[in-house]
Amino acid sequence: MGMERQAVELTNLDELWRAALSEIELQVSKPNFLTWFKNSRLLENHDGSALVALPNGFAKEWVESKYHKIILGSIRSISNETKNVEYVVEGSLSQKAISRRRRENQQKQDERQMVFQEMRVDPITGLNPKYSLTSFVVASFNELAHSAAQAVVENVGTKYNPLFIYGGVGLGKTHLIQGVGNEIRRISDNRIGVKYVTSEKFANDVIWAIKNRRAEDIKSAYRSADVLIVDDIQFLGGKETTQEEFFHTFNALHENNKQIIISSDRPPAAIARLEERLRSRFEGGMIADISCPEYEARVAIAKTKLQERGASLDDKIVDLVAKRVQKNIREIEGILNKLVFHQITYKRALDISTTEKIISEVTNRSASRATPNQIIKAVASFFEISPNDVIGRSRSKEYVEPRQIVMYLLRDTLNMSYPDIASRVGKRDHTTAIYAYKKMVVDLEKNPELGRKIILIKEDVNKFE
Ligand code: ADP
Ligand code: MG
Repeated sequence: MGMERQAVELTNLDELWRAALSEIELQVSKPNFLTWFKNSRLLENHDGSALVALPNGFAKEWVESKYHKIILGSIRSISNETKNVEYVVEGSLSQKAISRRRRENQQKQDERQMVFQEMRVDPITGLNPKYSLTSFVVASFNELAHSAAQAVVENVGTKYNPLFIYGGVGLGKTHLIQGVGNEIRRISDNRIGVKYVTSEKFANDVIWAIKNRRAEDIKSAYRSADVLIVDDIQFLGGKETTQEEFFHTFNALHENNKQIIISSDRPPAAIARLEERLRSRFEGGMIADISCPEYEARVAIAKTKLQERGASLDDKIVDLVAKRVQKNIREIEGILNKLVFHQITYKRALDISTTEKIISEVTNRSASRATPNQIIKAVASFFEISPNDVIGRSRSKEYVEPRQIVMYLLRDTLNMSYPDIASRVGKRDHTTAIYAYKKMVVDLEKNPELGRKIILIKEDVNKFE
């Protein structure tokens, strides 16, 4: 009996942490998430207090000082009895306690690992085996991109080169382009060399090479690939030296019929501060977009995700999630994690109102947990101007609308006071902020285009630090 209870409790801890992590993931940048949360786990959660273990003292200090609020909020949104979170270094508990936990935890290890399959990246290719084409659900919203990808698998380097995939956040770009890489490896018995990088990694490599006078290393590392996959290329915007290097890499590969695959959150023409010659290279191959999944596709994806993790939810619950969340598959996954956790914990099927509550928690949180800076940067990036101009004093006409949107969002999503808002955007007088907010509210009623802008900006907010 004692053992049994313990086992149930441990399952819950893992499920709870898994659900909390998928919340946390929506609120911190991906590199930070991977760096700081990869070897974390939840050791205890009772009497209102949760205990989180981090792999070393540095991680513990850092996570505790930087992410405490987010962690507490994420745990509380699932287990609202929790009032406090404490942190320990993994292994600092007594050896006996650890080995007992280890034994009990053994079969859970794999499951927890699923959250961090992100980490099981092949060091040579940069590919993560969890992204396969078989687990990629195809429907009309991504059909074009998928068939182009399939064609590239069958005609590496010769059919569509480059292949340029674009689409919004959380819609499957990374999954698809990594799936292509994995599939090419598989079919060729690993004979075709694939290299996957994010554009940030590429940029960092270039900077490193310049600093250490090792330009040749970079050249040979990138130019020896048979297939080069670069994710989120939009981040090269404005990085001139990196663009220059990428241009030469691109040409060297292209001339030798090596395959290049690129993803971006927008089409080449819409990437700000991208050199013309790169833009025209990108446009010289196949461009395919991934749009938003239609309802049936969202249901199919949700069911696939549940099946992959051996969980199940009532059809009407899946249906509700699919109806509510329309633009971000990653968010759908986060909600499913929370729902499954809830169902396991309370050992009964979820009802509609609980489900509604969990859905709105996840979807609202994405925008309302943002910082003022994230909002300013998201608005600036949307209008392709600099954040400083958004909050600066210039009266130039092009800054008026972005500035008003910033003031509106600071009020609407963060509920900031008018004087705070005014000082954020470099105004002395808080009546400006009141005026801007009221004007936006009125304009929004009349102008659907403005509403769409606001939605797009809100969806982008979490991409910024
Ligand atoms: P993006 O790179 O466009 O931001 P990702 O590729 O990271 O999006 O996808 C977000 C999540 O949604 C991933 O966990 C991915 O597996 C899942 N996903 C996206 N599209 C699909 C799909 N068509 N079928 C199955 N899972 C998908
Ligand atoms: Mg991605």
